[in-house]
Amino acid sequence: MYNLEAVLKKYFGYDNFRKGQKEIIDSVVNGRDVVGIMPTGAGKSLCFQIPAIIFSGITIVVSPLISLMKDQVDSLREQGIEATYINSTLSEMEYMERIQGISVGDYKLVYIAPERLESEGFCRMLNQVEVSFVAIDEAHCISQWAHDFRPSYKKIGDFIKGFSKRPVVGAYTATATEKVKEDIVKLLELNCPKVYVTGFDRENLFFSVLRGEDNQNYILSYIEGHKEDTGIIYTATRRETESIYNFLLKHGIKAGLYHAGLSDREREEWQNRFAYDDIDVMVATNAFGMGIDKHNIKFVIHNNMPKNLEAYYQEAGRAGRDGGKSECILLFNARDVQLQSFFIEQSDLPQYRKEYEYEKLREMVDYCYTSKCLRKYILEYFGDTVDYEECENCGNCLDEGEFRDITLEAQKIFSCIYRMRERYGSGMVVDVLRGSQNKKLLSAGLNKLSTYGIMPEYSKRDLMNVINKLVADGYLKLTNDGYPVVKLTAKAVQVLKSKARVTMKVAKVKKAIKADNQLFNLLRTIRKQISEEEKVPPYIVFGDSSLKEMSEYMPINKE
Ligand code: ADP
Ligand code: MG
Ligand code: ZN
Repeated sequence: MYNLEAVLKKYFGYDNFRKGQKEIIDSVVNGRDVVGIMPTGAGKSLCFQIPAIIFSGITIVVSPLISLMKDQVDSLREQGIEATYINSTLSEMEYMERIQGISVGDYKLVYIAPERLESEGFCRMLNQVEVSFVAIDEAHCISQWAHDFRPSYKKIGDFIKGFSKRPVVGAYTATATEKVKEDIVKLLELNCPKVYVTGFDRENLFFSVLRGEDNQNYILSYIEGHKEDTGIIYTATRRETESIYNFLLKHGIKAGLYHAGLSDREREEWQNRFAYDDIDVMVATNAFGMGIDKHNIKFVIHNNMPKNLEAYYQEAGRAGRDGGKSECILLFNARDVQLQSFFIEQSDLPQYRKEYEYEKLREMVDYCYTSKCLRKYILEYFGDTVDYEECENCGNCLDEGEFRDITLEAQKIFSCIYRMRERYGSGMVVDVLRGSQNKKLLSAGLNKLSTYGIMPEYSKRDLMNVINKLVADGYLKLTNDGYPVVKLTAKAVQVLKSKARVTMKVAKVKKAIKADNQLFNLLRTIRKQISEEEKVPPYIVFGDSSLKEMSEYMPINKE
């Protein structure tokens, strides 16, 4: 019939299909609904573009990424494939022309934004032309359980039902959670679909988590050590984006910035400058990304821990789309846990959803603290079966860690929180434990507690790290009483009664580090310096003392 390899070569210039592509395309062209679950950068687009070329009728691609439509359509046209898009950026004139073109069969592919489906007239028009295939890109957006739920995706089911001859339907996403998968099949009313889940591994990406770095200086020295490379620095807040951007500029780095506080025009300008290699590094919040299709990104550094692994893997996965070796580094600091818990608590999600988000946050934090293979951790999180213990290609596999018992420390902390009647934030708890002279503490009479000053030998940041780990592991919880207040859970009570023990993973630096890894040589030096200078207690993970900074965007720890 048709030779898929020949189509691939002729239109896209590639010699071989990547994992999963051929199977998905094969099913679609044989009239079977599909769900294609592949990681970011794996090549999902081809899985609907090639069927579109083969089918006799039109293929409709529903995509939430307005900013990408034009690029995708332009490059398809360059490859000789008739494509167009319909979204809110069109003038009335352009819109009419394209509708006209669709109705006379000028196009093989039509990209549409989901909001279009809210217009009945538009749907009716499409129902009257021959549509062979409807592809839903970023199909997880249909699920309330997904990280970027779009209400307008809910219209897709009805839209498909409106056709007198039902087209083949394909759903594509990088999100593999069971709940999302079920929603996709159910809400799109897929017809006995073939579900393809390719492995989530991105072999060319090197993952590492570094704890307690001085982030700005780390980022600067990393960039200076990788002068030839392009990368993204993700931060949690606009303010941090600005501050890192300014810091890098001051040091002569060609950086750009991107966050939701900039005007559309500014954002577009930065995005273009990044796309055309006019700047080397983009400093951005998570607002940057959905629409980027840049292939030569060599590193993605997270200045903060994201809210969950889906978000992390998607953002980090923007590195190395060209298949070249790239690095994904997460700079973890204690305050990130509190910040993310606070975001969840502040959100207007219903309680059962908050709990779900907390669960995912816990797994994200575990990723940051694990001393086992990071790749294995990620892949298993996404449901892959991994038959090795060490990938030999992540920070932890080139490092080694161990568990330490911290039961005694945990008991001290819990009893202090108990004596403070569970009414304060973690900053105040730390101050009481260390015996600080903080005025608010003194005026509240907290210096009279029997737990005042029982842990003077610890630095603020180390204690903060332990508390955050205890939150992450469910011994403590943060409630929102206008500001985050730490409270004990039943699990902590067991520890207080000496019925359970607490352990914590601690990273240690391996003696023999693979010499070819520049980053790890650098990392080793930095870690060594920290531990020598600060005499870090052996069971405490390196942390940072960003309490002051945190207090600027959270009503917590004000001194
Ligand atoms: P996804 O949507 O899964 O994140 P894309 O469809 O944007 O990924 O594809 C990522 C990159 O991989 C694109 O640059 C694309 O051209 C390239 N690509 C896709 N399939 C192949 C292939 N079979 N061979 C080589 N490159 C490919
Ligand atoms: Mg895509
Ligand atoms: Zn590994």
